[in-house]
Amino acid sequence: MKAVAERSALLSLEQALALLLEAADASPILEVEHLSLAEADRRVLAEDLTSPLDVPPWPNSAMDGYALRLADVAGQPLPVSQRVLAGMAPAPLQPGTCARIFTGAPVPEGADCVEMQENTEVLGDGCVRLLQALRLGQNIRPQGQETVRGETVLAAGARLGPAELGLAATLGMDRIPVRRRPVVAVLSTGDELVEPGQALGPGQIYNSNRRVLCSWLERLGCQVLDAGILPDDFAMTRERLGAYRHADLILSTGGVSVGEADFLGQALREDGALALWKLAIKPGKPLTFGHYQGVPVIGLPGNPASTLVTFGLLARPYLMRRLGCQAVEPLRLVVPAGFDWPKAGGRREFLRARLDSGRAVLYPNQSSGVLRSAAWAQGLVEVPEGRSFSEGEGVNFIPLSELFN
Ligand code: AMP
Ligand code: MG
Repeated sequence: MKAVAERSALLSLEQALALLLEAADASPILEVEHLSLAEADRRVLAEDLTSPLDVPPWPNSAMDGYALRLADVAGQPLPVSQRVLAGMAPAPLQPGTCARIFTGAPVPEGADCVEMQENTEVLGDGCVRLLQALRLGQNIRPQGQETVRGETVLAAGARLGPAELGLAATLGMDRIPVRRRPVVAVLSTGDELVEPGQALGPGQIYNSNRRVLCSWLERLGCQVLDAGILPDDFAMTRERLGAYRHADLILSTGGVSVGEADFLGQALREDGALALWKLAIKPGKPLTFGHYQGVPVIGLPGNPASTLVTFGLLARPYLMRRLGCQAVEPLRLVVPAGFDWPKAGGRREFLRARLDSGRAVLYPNQSSGVLRSAAWAQGLVEVPEGRSFSEGEGVNFIPLSELFN
């Protein structure tokens, strides 16, 4: 990894993201596993998925009705010469007749149109009268409508979810090549931290960031190593960092605030490389990026809302990119603001918000120490640096479902 100089100027979100993605591109996780579709949810596709067949393999009916040849229709009712259900292989259509057909059934050779049963009348002699004008090819789903043999249907780097896995199943695949899981060690720094379930002593608080990150990383398809709580101590910091040499990333929280004894930074400076960034975002100003004995390290700020925002906007894209994902930025929707923002700020703000009748409304307390704001919120309103606005103007809204996915 390239050692990045320590910076004193504030870095924009885009600058920090660009540096992280550059580093991720330089250390891709390339090992491939072949998993069953049932195991591959949320993983990242390792190779282009090429269709081995036409889907559908033959023209089929989009309706329950009658298949016929347009040229045979001259006002007179048509006798029914066969009945075709889904799963059957029909005989060629006898000239001057129609075939009873059902949705998904192969269209008999020679038929070039399907009329839905609602637009027909079955006469006493069993012949079918067509009540409306017909169009060539109507209600026929052509062969290869979904995909044709040899076509790339999903590119390497795609994140696999219900639609993508369903597509692989459509192609008849039962196993799929994915990148192996990134191994991420989660470290919570702070003398004040205690794990839930234990009694709190004076000055102590419960460790919430560990749960936020472990739960989130698992959703992202990572293998999480719980590196526990790290006291604010230099020797222990080095020892703990050194214990995760087999990880793809060490993710720590806390200990990067201005003015605090920065043991993580010191350790990286001595046994690796360090970039200490001050980001022009709120919450989440301080961020550490570097490596320790060759293992990439991202140090997120400790305030729970800051941890959440910086992980979602920076560490998550970094991890996704190491797996080869190209589209790592979350979707941003433009919605009308449900509040005034009279005073432009110097940093870009990510406000925990909800949509109320389509307008973004804010959690009343936006302190970076308040995690409840994120549990309440449906998304983050992104207020660019230097911008003020009034209620009703458009603002970016990043759904949390996008980030947590
Ligand atoms: P720091 O970045 O270590 O200065 O921490 C900033 C604030 O976040 C302090 O109020 C810490 O107590 C709090 N904090 C740090 N780590 C955690 C954690 N893992 N869980 C909950 N709060 C934390
Ligand atoms: Mg701390």
